Amino acid sequence: MIDALNHLPRPRAGAEELAGQFGDLAPPLTARQAAVESSRCLYCFDAPCVNACPSEIDIPSFIHRISDENLQGAAERILSANILGGSCARVCPTEILCEQACVRNNAKECAPVLIGQLQRYALDNAAFSEHPFKRSPASGKRIAVVGAGPAGLSCAHRLAMHGHDVVVFEAREKSGGLNEYGIARYKLVDDYAQREVEFLLGIGGIEIRHGQRLGDNLSLTDLHQQYDSVFLGLGLNAVRQLGLPDEQAPGVLAATDYIRELRQADDLSQLPLADRCLVIGAGNTAIDMAVQMSRLGARDVNLVYRRGHADMGATEHEQDIAKANQVRLHTWARPDAVLLDDDGRVRGMRFARTALVEGRLGDTGETFELAADAIFKAIGQCFDEHSLGDPLAAQLARDGERIRVDAGMRTSVPGVYAGGDCTALGQDLTVQAVQHGKLAAEAIHAQLMLNVEAA
Ligand SMILES: Cc1cc2nc3c(=O)[nH]c(=O)nc-3n(C[C@H](O)[C@H](O)[C@H](O)COP(=O)(O)OP(=O)(O)OC[C@H]3O[C@@H](n4cnc5c(N)ncnc54)[C@H](O)[C@@H]3O)c2cc1C
Ligand code: SF4
Repeated sequence: MIDALNHLPRPRAGAEELAGQFGDLAPPLTARQAAVESSRCLYCFDAPCVNACPSEIDIPSFIHRISDENLQGAAERILSANILGGSCARVCPTEILCEQACVRNNAKECAPVLIGQLQRYALDNAAFSEHPFKRSPASGKRIAVVGAGPAGLSCAHRLAMHGHDVVVFEAREKSGGLNEYGIARYKLVDDYAQREVEFLLGIGGIEIRHGQRLGDNLSLTDLHQQYDSVFLGLGLNAVRQLGLPDEQAPGVLAATDYIRELRQADDLSQLPLADRCLVIGAGNTAIDMAVQMSRLGARDVNLVYRRGHADMGATEHEQDIAKANQVRLHTWARPDAVLLDDDGRVRGMRFARTALVEGRLGDTGETFELAADAIFKAIGQCFDEHSLGDPLAAQLARDGERIRVDAGMRTSVPGVYAGGDCTALGQDLTVQAVQHGKLAAEAIHAQLMLNVEAA
């Protein structure tokens, strides 16, 4: 249980009612809807939707197959580019990716082709009697992958396809990374993250070892010596701090810590509920936190951001979800002090009003207070330095705090590759991490085969 919130009450609603609150945010298309929607695709030449997809899925081609009632073919098309296409169909911000680029996304047409929904339809309804991809003959090469999140899993699958043996080292009990521990509960329902991992492992040649943490019981020096290549898909596991006194007081918590508990809870009615809560931040994590608190039954959910609406990291679609769930958005205010009651627990927060003065964010001198039983910090994740403590890991060049990679996902240490959120390349999205893992696997494979030819 989350110690910092243990003093709070439990939700008023029972387990069953709460489970209903966390059902599928976007229910799947019916066969009829999929037929109508797929017929809207114009099968554009040089399709802009494909260029906007970080994992380069051949979108017109899979939609064409849905239209032809060839769901198996459609699913294979998607999975050959993105082996986690099922979770991406559910979590991708399509409104700023493929669907934004769709030529039907204009006022006359009313709406873009619902690419994400069609992708989900194909993958949910295709029936595979066995894993759709075969392994190449065994290469005799062994690769270590650190982190079983979207980047690591995607890399492992593509390497296994090329005939290599892969060992994935994962710190946590379950695989899936943030698909299992971070994505909002109503986006990935019915244990989807675990079902997808099982499907992916169906290719064979991948062993996952849990409880293995780089920087604790695992070192990059050892992996580099023992394996033909190493891929790091570590994600971002530390949380940015507000830098205020009393930040450790009961009632203040990282949003990701709460979401992790919520994702793993069998009975949501046992979670602590902050009837009045504050969420600090403006990205998708902040929105997810606020919406989930509201769905648990909180009466007063306020999200506070230091800049304006236009600067918010959360997409307009996400902001609409927040509004539809009675989340109040406050802009141009920054946390100034955590307010405590006589027992030393959170009773609210004081904010300083902000404004842009000659292009720089500053305080106006005005302050205001909001009452709250809990404050959730969602001002961003950062790199967990502990993971790269050993001498070889310490040599990895960085872009800021993240690991520097080139376009082939190579780090500055030969034989070591990295991808996903722990690198500075692209956006911090599931689909981007999957693409990084795939690109790294191709680069690793090409290098290993070159070494074999040269020997
Ligand atoms: C709350 C939240 C909500 C999000 N919602 C969305 C969304 O709706 N849509 C979207 O596209 N993206 C979303 N994202 C972003 C998305 O989840 C990430 O971009 C994606 O998971 C990155 O994949 P990854 O494999 O790089 O890292 P992760 O998913 O973080 O996986 C990293 C894995 O490495 C393991 N690991 C870490 N350190 C070590 C170590 N030292 N040794 C061994 N193993 C280690 C971790 O346990 C984890 O399993 C969200 C992120 C958060 C935090
Ligand atoms: S841009 Fe839209 S209409 Fe054109 S191929 Fe892509 S989904 Fe179809």
